[in-house]
Amino acid sequence: MSSMTDTNIAIPSGPLGRRGSRRVLVQHGDRKIWVGGDAPVVVQSMTNTDTADAVGTAIQIKELARAGSELVRLTVDRPEAAQAVPYIRDQLDKMGVDVPLVGDFHYNGHTLLTDYPDCAQALSKYRINPGNVGKGAKRDTQFAQMIEVAMKYDKPVRIGVNWGSLDQALLARIMDENASRANPWSAQAVMYEALITSAIENAVRAEELGMGRDKIILSCKVSGVQDLIAVYRELAKRCDYPLHLGLTEAGMGSKGIVASTAALSVLLQEGIGDTIRVSLTPEPGGDRTKEVVVSQEILQTMGLRKFTPMVIACPGCGRTTSTVFQELADDIQTFLREQMPEWKKTYAGVENMNVAVMGCIVNGPGESKHANIGISLPGTGESPAAPVFVDGEKVATLRGDNIVGEFQAIVLNYVKTNYGNK
Ligand code: SF4
Repeated sequence: MSSMTDTNIAIPSGPLGRRGSRRVLVQHGDRKIWVGGDAPVVVQSMTNTDTADAVGTAIQIKELARAGSELVRLTVDRPEAAQAVPYIRDQLDKMGVDVPLVGDFHYNGHTLLTDYPDCAQALSKYRINPGNVGKGAKRDTQFAQMIEVAMKYDKPVRIGVNWGSLDQALLARIMDENASRANPWSAQAVMYEALITSAIENAVRAEELGMGRDKIILSCKVSGVQDLIAVYRELAKRCDYPLHLGLTEAGMGSKGIVASTAALSVLLQEGIGDTIRVSLTPEPGGDRTKEVVVSQEILQTMGLRKFTPMVIACPGCGRTTSTVFQELADDIQTFLREQMPEWKKTYAGVENMNVAVMGCIVNGPGESKHANIGISLPGTGESPAAPVFVDGEKVATLRGDNIVGEFQAIVLNYVKTNYGNK
């Protein structure tokens, strides 16, 4: 007879250990965000406003930070944008938003960082794309200029390679090397090698210029899931710089979410990745904070971090003919997420809470009992009553038109009782 002790079933122990990267500090004032080492995987996002629109950009950064973005990147593409950066930083500080800002530079970063020292100072990190630093002899001097500014203001950098803007001279060199091989690699392997080489060679170059190893983060973004996994596995083998993960141009809606989740989950499970961004294309007029929510949900559902109480909801079926069940699940999820910015200051550990919202008696009571708080709504043909369970015990049966309001009150009371005054 089998027992719990002789089972062959492997009990998951969570993602594999982190791969032991170095740690990089990204800081604004007293707000310190560690990337790498044994620090939690950091969530970051990027604005899509015109940075020269300082007010609009500051508002969006505030929203992204409130949603949980721990670093926010913004485009610095021209003098007007560089001039706006210190003003944006100032506005955020006045609003009590201390999220560190990352400047995204392409083509003219060396000029902007040199000509606008207040911008260079206000940013907490610079993203440098080695494929967009310059061509020929200018490339090395312009790259060096950016690294020197970073060292002057003691800022870390991300050397962020992207296959859409790969350094063409480096690619040509690697293709030449490949052509002289007895057994040339495939075009795909050459591309991978070029991406990885670009990141590592530029990091080494930055160190030769005097930058500390503890100031460098790397990324090699591509838009294919299998490509991203292959590139990062190899990059992680070849260096111990912290790695920023993201599937570039992931796309819109469910496709973007699924593709990012598929790619990032495999790598995170292998201990690869110290900070993530989910690059979603928002729907027209859509909410930019969605990319933050998705990043958090990837990390939380994998058991890597906890951000917000989990709502476990059944999918519904023919037994749930009313929309009450979907509305309650949605209302509770929204309610919990909206409370979190305040709750996390007051109710330590509240992010560990689980709430179950179930559609009928088939799995409802059982699943509800496993959660901290659960409600089992009446399915078709069932008596119009919704039993509520708290820590496995049935504590109430809700009826009538205000089930949502009464259930929220029970949740709030549970939070105050179990997580308050800590
Ligand atoms: S718990 Fe009930 S309503 Fe929900 S999916 Fe299962 S059978 Fe359907």
